[in-house]
Parts: sequence; C-alpha cells; structure tokens
Amino acid sequence: MKRFAIITFLAILATVANAQRPGYWQQHVDYKMDVEVDENNYKYQGDMVLKYTNNSNKELPKIYFHLYFNAFQPGSMMDYRLSNIKDPDARMTTNIGTKENPKYQSRIAVLTPEQIGYQKVNKLSVNGQPASFKVDGTILEVTLSQPIKREETATIEMQWEAQVPEQIRRSGRNSKEGVALSMAQWYPKMAQFDDFGWHLDEYVAREFIAPFGNFDVTIHLNKDYVVGASGKLQNPTQVKGYDRKAKITSQNGKATWNFKAENIHDFVWAADPKFVVDSAKSNGGVTIYTVFLPTNKQVKENWATALSLSTEFFDFCGSHFGAYPWSTYSIIQGGDGGMEYGTATLITGGRDIKSLVGVIFHEAAHSWYQQLFGINETVDEWFDEGFTSYIEELAFQNVFEKKGALESNPVINAYRAYYKLALSGKEEPMSLLADYYDTNYAYGNEAYNKGQVLAEQLGYIIGKDNLQKTFLRFYELWKFKHPTPNDFKRVAEEVSGVNLKWYFNLFTNTTRTIDYAIDRVTDTEIHLTNKSNFAMPLDILVEYEDGSKELFYIPLREMRGEKPVENLSIYQGIERTTLEDWFWTNPNYAIKVTKKPVKVQIDPSLRLADIESTDNNYNKK
Ligand SMILES: [Zn+2]
Repeated sequence: MKRFAIITFLAILATVANAQRPGYWQQHVDYKMDVEVDENNYKYQGDMVLKYTNNSNKELPKIYFHLYFNAFQPGSMMDYRLSNIKDPDARMTTNIGTKENPKYQSRIAVLTPEQIGYQKVNKLSVNGQPASFKVDGTILEVTLSQPIKREETATIEMQWEAQVPEQIRRSGRNSKEGVALSMAQWYPKMAQFDDFGWHLDEYVAREFIAPFGNFDVTIHLNKDYVVGASGKLQNPTQVKGYDRKAKITSQNGKATWNFKAENIHDFVWAADPKFVVDSAKSNGGVTIYTVFLPTNKQVKENWATALSLSTEFFDFCGSHFGAYPWSTYSIIQGGDGGMEYGTATLITGGRDIKSLVGVIFHEAAHSWYQQLFGINETVDEWFDEGFTSYIEELAFQNVFEKKGALESNPVINAYRAYYKLALSGKEEPMSLLADYYDTNYAYGNEAYNKGQVLAEQLGYIIGKDNLQKTFLRFYELWKFKHPTPNDFKRVAEEVSGVNLKWYFNLFTNTTRTIDYAIDRVTDTEIHLTNKSNFAMPLDILVEYEDGSKELFYIPLREMRGEKPVENLSIYQGIERTTLEDWFWTNPNYAIKVTKKPVKVQIDPSLRLADIESTDNNYNKK
C-alpha cells in the first residue's frame, strides 16, 4: 500500500516536470514610473526606472520597446492597414461615401498635429551609461554599450513625453462616451523576448505580449479627477473617489495617485472628473472596483447589478479554471468597446445590462487566458480569445442566465459562426500571425469562434471531465508564465492519455473541415463514411425497433487511447459500447447491430464540428 503510494507520487511528480518545457525561462520587469499630466493639452511627461532581468541563455546587445501612441499618426502602419484592409474596423474609419456605396477613410489619416498621438524618448540610459536608440514607427530599438549578461538585472532609465491621441482605438482622449483620458499602451513597454526570439510587431490595432513583472506607478493629475487603474491604489485617503473620509492633498492643483501591481504584464489607467467608484468583494476575497460615469439612473443601476454579478463571476471562474491570484480587479469605463489589462479592463459603459455583463465577463475572463497565462496574442490569438470567449460563455450561462448544469454543448453559437466562416472561402489557417489576416472577418471568427470550437471539441475527444481537469492542471503548471498551444495540448494528453497531435495540427494549421455521413442503414449494419480529409472519433446514438437505445463509441486510432464514459444528460441511462478504432486512411466503417435500428445519430451532443450535418441523422420511414 505504502509502496504503491510512493510510486504514484513519483509518477505525479514526473508528469508535472514533463508538462513544462525543460529549460523554460522568462524575462522579468520591474517598472517604477512617474507621470506629470497636463490634462488641458492631453500631454504628459514620463519618468521610468525599469529593472530588466535577463533570464535567457543569451547576452543581449540590443533591447526593444513599444511606443504604441506613434501608431496614431498619418502614414503609420496602422493608418495604411486601415486604408487597405477589405473590411476595416468601423470604429476606426469614417464612411465618406454613401450607405449603399461606402468609401471608408482612415480616421488616423486626417489627424492634425494637435490630435495625433506620440511618445518621444528624450533621455535613455542603461546601467548609468547613455544608450543610443532609434525609432521606427512604434518600435524603439536600443543599442547598448555593454550587452546585458545572462542573469543580469539591468537598470534602464528613461524620460519621455507624450501626447494622448484622439480616441481611435483603445487609448485616447475624450471618448464618445465622454471619458477624458483612456490610458492604455501609454508607456514605453519592454518588448517580449523568449525562446522564439524578439516579438517586434508594429502596432496595427491587434493585441499584445509582454514580460511579467511589478508596477509602481505615480500619476500627478488635476485633483478634481478620479483615476481607475491596474493594481491597488496605495493612497485612497489623499485622492478623490475611493474613500468618503479622504482629505485630498494637492500641490499646484494636482493630486498624486500611486498604484502598485504585482506580477502582471500590462498596466492601464483612465481618468475623468465625473467618474464615481463602487466596490464589492467576491466570496473568494477579490475586491472588484467599478469606475464609471453615472450619466443616468439606468446606467447607475446597470453598473450596480454588473458589479454584484462580477463577484459571482470570479467565484465561478476560480473553481473551474483556477483561483484568481490578485487581490483586486477594476472595471473601468474607457473609450473602447472592451480590452483587457493586468487586473483591470477598459470598457464602454452606456450598455444594456446583458451587453454590459457580457463585455465585463469577457474581459475579466482574460484574467486567465491572457493576464495569468501570458499567451502571445500576436501568434496564438485563438488560444487567447477563443479560450476567453469559452470561459465568458460558460460563466454567462451559469451566473447571468442561472442555467445551472450546462448543456452538452454550451457554445453552439460559436460553432454556427465557425461553419459560416468555413463555408465563406475567407478562412485562413488560425496559426497565422494575428496581424496578417486578409480580413477582420476571418481574424475575428477564427480567434473568437473557432478557438471556442477547438476547446469544446477537445472535450468531445478526451471527455468532458478530462477537459475540466486539463483546465485546472494547466493553471497549476502555467500560471504567470507564457504557455503556447502546444503546452496546453501536452497537459490535455497527460490528463487524458489520448494523443492529440493530429487534432491540434489539422485544426489550427489548416482550414480542413470535418464531414461525416451515415451512408446507409440495414437491419444488421450501419455504414458510415468520412467525406472529409479530417478524421475524428465518433459517438453514434442508435435507437432500435424495440425502443431501446445504445451509444457506440469509435475511437480514432491516432488517439492511442479512449475517452472515458461521459456523464451527459442526453446519454442518461444509455449503455456505451466501445467499438474497434477507425483510422484516417480508410473512409468507410460499418457497425454491426443485433437489433433493427430505426434511428441513428452522429454525435447528438453537437460537439463534433461537422460542417454538413444533414447527413448525420437517419430515421427509418
Ligand atoms: Zn478578448
């Protein structure tokens, strides 16, 4: 008994070690920033001391930063992208044609020098030595006089000045809803260096990747403003909004705000004189803040309801996807539809309650698939957006709609959107870099919908319980790190004992689609055909003439394993018979039956992403 326990323990240890990449390393940042804001001219001066730890196996002769505000200038890569993509983001363009015959103009193209965004570095030193640097678009390249050695922590000091652009996307001044300052991508941000190399993507409006670290941010701003930000406010008694008994201290009309955040990779803030702050605590101990414009009674009511539901959201996600590890989360009204940052989100606020809760749940779900697992959104956009949308959907049905036990396929709408995409001719392999999609339509559907299909269909392959276990195991292994889809696949393989190489390759690197059919049914046999070049395991539900039912399970040989019997309500009381496996080189398969079938169904749970489902059912006439 004891010996057995030791072997099991060693086996678990070995699995844990194997699941992470051997030799895995990641860089570390510690930012201390001080900004002096001139809110009348939408400008600010920034001071940064950044401690950058090189945990890589290389010396670094150069380092890079992102200067995102530079994208909001006529002639930038973002401007050209807007002018040339077939279906530009409506928020970022103006229709100067007619409704029937639209002609879209990039809003960036017409920005005046007073309206553009910029970040200008005035002074930069590394370990006390001045460093030479150059700027190309949104990338700052720094050449060091001495390379940063392995395991060295370099001190980078920088002074910069910036102008906040007109609100176009994510960041900006005076948003449509009237928020004065939405400050995302506002500081020179250390670029990501990992075992794939430097990630130096220009900002063309897609998303982000950065090293984990700590932030200590001090903001000097007009004392009448209220600030919402990442992390935890250190001096609530000296500033407006957070503490009823606060004694606002100011100098030259400016209050000083200090926020600290630990182990995040993006820091956001927003400010407005009309902001109000509310807060509540989840059972799990997360303090959730809402910072918004209370424009009318309905808006106030919606935000109060949303705050209370958000506490439930964090408890739901904690138990299903791993505990939220930070002490705070701030839901801040900002200029954009919705975007996730470390322990905070900026969202638009004048929404109906369903939409407001939906966007909050989505952005807060990114606390797992983005902030906690630092997924590279420029490379693995579907892993980030798809898995986030998956969590959002589950939480929404559970917490908002109070559905309780979720149906066998809770994300059927994502499947429908994916089928439409697959049949549109616009699909590209979803392993494509996020920036490069020909259309926003394909990017959006692949990242958000096909990514969800990948997750739910994985549950179909390895079993619903194994999917649940995979999520929790993945959390233990990869929180505060930078996992790739392959890391998730490896955890799923180890949890389930099923080989998944074929599934991840075909579903992410190709646009192949799945299409099975019931070919013919006799009194003794059911003939199945794989009409596609994508083989999958099959669940087949058969109803016999005598009214009895049987579930057949045909594993795929490449799986080298089977999923356990699943406890789905639709299969309640039905015996499962596991058949001999099928393999992809053979398009045909026959099931022998001893009773006369009257009804046959391929995957009644609808988790198999079969793009042509009319031939998935047989009913004897
Ligand atoms: Zn998202």
